Amino acid sequence: MIERFFKLFPNPETLAIAGPDLELTLRPLGFATQRAGQLRALGDRLGDPNGPDLGRSWADMPGIGPYSSGMVEGALGAQGAVAVDTNIARIIERVYGVKPSHAEARKSPNIWSFVAALTKGSKSAIRVLWALLDLAAIVCKVGVPDCEACPLRGQCEYATARQRSTTPRLGSTTDRLPSLRGRKVHKGRSNFSL
Ligand code: SF4
Repeated sequence: MIERFFKLFPNPETLAIAGPDLELTLRPLGFATQRAGQLRALGDRLGDPNGPDLGRSWADMPGIGPYSSGMVEGALGAQGAVAVDTNIARIIERVYGVKPSHAEARKSPNIWSFVAALTKGSKSAIRVLWALLDLAAIVCKVGVPDCEACPLRGQCEYATARQRSTTPRLGSTTDRLPSLRGRKVHKGRSNFSL
């Protein structure tokens, strides 16, 4: 799908004036109508003959939410980039026992603040975020996590509580944040030490 997309829409200008081909290309993703409109608007903004306003955050662009903005900025090398989705939020909840301050963990300001503290000052913030995503995809999955295979099991509140057969303790534990550093995630994109 990616190859077809870039073949049909190789630059913002073609995206801005895309016809029904755009919906057809996006249909396999299951949200073609909504995304097509956002992508046309994004192409229009990026293809502005006066040039995109590079002083603005990616979060100001059509269809780009805080998570995508953080990941794009991180991929572009932004120091201390922050992004939280349900997977990253799950890791923070489990490892540190941070209780989300919002009904949706990925929208919780305290979880965003926690991840911001984790990537603060890091020139490799994107690799920290990738490491968290890889951890979530490989061992700390939704449902029953594979704690035995996890490099963080020695620092993880959930794993410790599970080992003791008690309910995981929830609360703010920012003081334990540095304990992740030096831990390795060997698989996936990151292959990186937190
Ligand atoms: S030890 Fe278990 S609960 Fe904790 S991060 Fe690893 S897989 Fe997840």
